[in-house]
Amino acid sequence: MHRLNSIRLNHSKNTAGIEAVRLPVPAYVKIPMSMHMGAPCTPLVKKGDTVLVGQKIGDTDAFFSAPVHSSVSGTVKDVSDYRLINGMVCKAVEIETDGQQTLCECTPPEITDRESFIKAVRESGICGLGGAGFPTHIKLNPKGEIDTLIINAAECEPYITSDYRQMIERPENVLGGIRLVMKYLGIPKAVFAIESNKPDAIAEFRKLTGNEPEIEVYQLPSTYPQGAEKVLIHSTTGRVVMEGQLPSDQKVIVMNVSTAAFIYKYTQTGVPLVNRRITVEGSAVGKPCNVIAPIGTMVSELLKFAETDTENVKKLIAGGPMMGACLINAETPVVKTSNSFLADSDYTEPVTTACIRCGRCVRACSMNLMPLEIEKAYKRKDTAALQSLKLGLCMNCGACTYVCPANRKLAETNQLAKAFLPKKK
Ligand code: SF4
Ligand code: SF4
Repeated sequence: MHRLNSIRLNHSKNTAGIEAVRLPVPAYVKIPMSMHMGAPCTPLVKKGDTVLVGQKIGDTDAFFSAPVHSSVSGTVKDVSDYRLINGMVCKAVEIETDGQQTLCECTPPEITDRESFIKAVRESGICGLGGAGFPTHIKLNPKGEIDTLIINAAECEPYITSDYRQMIERPENVLGGIRLVMKYLGIPKAVFAIESNKPDAIAEFRKLTGNEPEIEVYQLPSTYPQGAEKVLIHSTTGRVVMEGQLPSDQKVIVMNVSTAAFIYKYTQTGVPLVNRRITVEGSAVGKPCNVIAPIGTMVSELLKFAETDTENVKKLIAGGPMMGACLINAETPVVKTSNSFLADSDYTEPVTTACIRCGRCVRACSMNLMPLEIEKAYKRKDTAALQSLKLGLCMNCGACTYVCPANRKLAETNQLAKAFLPKKK
């Protein structure tokens, strides 16, 4: 099979061997009503209300959304406006915790068929935990037939090991989730796609699925960006998701490994999505670690727990170094899609120089795009050129920016260019 372009990165999976520990219950959490793609939720609680862990505190009638639940027990201090990382404003429920972590009455959902399974998945509040935040119940309700479930266990971004720790600490949850999705959606085959830099997880999952030929453990090369959806589908099935298509148009569903694990756990306990397993890393972090933190916990609490030299943090990233977003400060809450926070003390802003037409950005791009030409077209605000350069295929993987010797902000420019293009009706 033809291999797509990719690049090699230092994996720096320094926390791979560190078991995730529970963060002490914070005194305060702030839970945004928009932590997924789609419509924000409307708060269901008001100032002064008492809430319990797992209690639904936000929901909407909109189909493209997912409900929000309290991650702590305590008292609602306020329902305020909150500016998200993408600049949008939504409501957020601020809660003063009582430290008891009293669980609301959570009972495992009754699941008898596809419809009740998808309904349960929606009620759980789950969205794609790999970072994109696509509501999972919508992904599980494709229009056409699906013949393959691809589990994204690549975790190809440097530093992040939260998915890996999920696989090592609770493999039974991962496999339980895979079996449930296959059963209720009638999918005959699953491909568990994992990079070669996780040999112990590969061995474990091969052992655990030894008697299940319908689940294939597929070893991906440890190159970047193996975990990007289109790249993953091509690597594992040879199929090409064309511009404007969804994976389901190629008869596949791609699901993050921690999402699959959560679905199984929810069906067993009825406890919705209230915690995240998160890697805390970077040169300013004294004790790099994986923590299980309540959603809404301030990043500053995670940094404190990881003994970070907060005075000297020059760059704070939510996510990985390739696709993550810079935070302006650590008073930002953990959200459903948080998988890592990186705090660096030795960052210096690179100096951008003129393009030397070396072509490295083109050779690095898995989608065969021409980032240097896209940059020029965006500067001219040339909509037709941006469309013919297939900007819509850009996955914002950052590979072009990474390889550019002139330090041009190519991936970042592509994002601006995408926002500039008129939205399709
Ligand atoms: S990698 Fe940078 S310098 Fe080389 S062609 Fe692309 S934009 Fe120009
Ligand atoms: S950010 Fe976009 S243009 Fe750059 S390498 Fe990734 S897919 Fe290609």
